[in-house]
Amino acid sequence: METIFEKSKKGKRCSSIKPLRVPTHTIKNKYTRGDLNLPEVAEIDLVRHYTALSNRAFGVDTGFYPLGSCTMKYNPKLNDEAANLPGFTQIHPSQEVETVQGCMEAMYMLSEQLMEITGMDGISLQPSSGAHGEYLGLLLIDAYHKSRKQTGRTKILIPDSAHGTNPASAAMAGFEVVVVPSNADKGVDIDALKALVGNDTAALMLTNPTTLGLFEKNIKEIGKIVHDAGGLLYYDGANLNAIMGIARPGDMGFDVIHLNIHKTFSTPHGGGGPGSGPVGVKTALFPFLPNPSIIKTKRSEFEFKFLESSIGKIGAYYGNFGVYIKALAYILTLGGDGLKESSVMAVTNANYLKKGIADLYPTEKGRHCMHEFVVSLEDLKAKTGVSAMDIAKAMIDRGMHPPTMYFPLIVHEALMIEPTETESKDTLDNAIKVLRELYELALSNPQALKNAPATTVISRPDEALAARQPKVRG
Ligand SMILES: *Cc1c(COP(=O)(O)O)cnc(C)c1O
Repeated sequence: METIFEKSKKGKRCSSIKPLRVPTHTIKNKYTRGDLNLPEVAEIDLVRHYTALSNRAFGVDTGFYPLGSCTMKYNPKLNDEAANLPGFTQIHPSQEVETVQGCMEAMYMLSEQLMEITGMDGISLQPSSGAHGEYLGLLLIDAYHKSRKQTGRTKILIPDSAHGTNPASAAMAGFEVVVVPSNADKGVDIDALKALVGNDTAALMLTNPTTLGLFEKNIKEIGKIVHDAGGLLYYDGANLNAIMGIARPGDMGFDVIHLNIHKTFSTPHGGGGPGSGPVGVKTALFPFLPNPSIIKTKRSEFEFKFLESSIGKIGAYYGNFGVYIKALAYILTLGGDGLKESSVMAVTNANYLKKGIADLYPTEKGRHCMHEFVVSLEDLKAKTGVSAMDIAKAMIDRGMHPPTMYFPLIVHEALMIEPTETESKDTLDNAIKVLRELYELALSNPQALKNAPATTVISRPDEALAARQPKVRG
């Protein structure tokens, strides 16, 4: 396909400006930018170009998108509409608070709702992603220990089934990462934890459900061991769509939690747009939350509050405001019962799909999964040479986005599948049929899968090269 620059023809225009009826002035050369080399096309060519490009992209609005750990569910358009209301978009963050009381109230309401959903005492909406939230959470933990003169707490314990951003964030926040191995049941190995915990422990970060899509069974015991040693408990709640309305991390004893609004609350993860990773805390960490927080006065007005003990700012202004409105609209339209139902559906759908393929695609035996599950194609690869990548690529030809591949690292030839709560039984049945057919094809004609996908413009790009030397223009 030609780029918009290749389609450009000198003199073509999307609009023509009528001759001016006012005096003109020439801007001095030193103030002009010279030739910008912009493409010149007619409006219809422009529309066709971008429509053709959009047809080449695959999104949640196009088809089934079971990308594990990303919650690529369908989000009602109503929430986008709410976020696009002029009262929310035609404002500036530097405006006087008296003139943006509605926006302040929306942020306050969202904070209250998220505290209720998670069981936490305070919240900051500022971080712009899950990893950003983790980083903030760790800075809060550090500030908490230092305020109590506990300067030797330099280590963060992280189970090997945690999301990869956990150790990365801990290292960025200046901590030393200590990996806690899993037991045979794929939960935290309690004996190993006991041996690793000590007065140098700042916190343990638990991804729950784990990256295997399993609920950690021994949370109470893990929490007691860490708290008894003076450490704090961090909950990676990026995948809250597995437990909303059913269990609350605050009630489980966690001191800090981050959420991924751009997974659970109506903004797609990986959508390329802004995200939001709010951090909730228990009262003891409240004084360190980023400035400013929003408070409601006795006269029901909203104000910013700046705390001396705050760790400072973690993002520009107040975070990604439009994402908050989508989340608030989502929460208010579903209500408490609706949120719970969405979690029940997320878990039901994942278990339905898992059961439909479990005899062919081996997964964690004897356990129900939460909102997602991981299969291993190690045996299939040994038998046929067909890899997890080959199966994933072949799914593209059958109208589906591939699952997450080769993650988590503790499973070989992994495919991580998250159907999400919004898919119908028909869609799940079709996914089961396709995955079963692909397995049979791997046995009968493995070469057919090696050439997939055949229906896309580019079949198998060199992903490493594309990331290292991106060519963003034709
Ligand atoms: C997605 C995810 C993250 C990271 O979130 P980003 O917004 O991509 O930074 C962290 N932990 C878990 C468990 C996740 O699924």
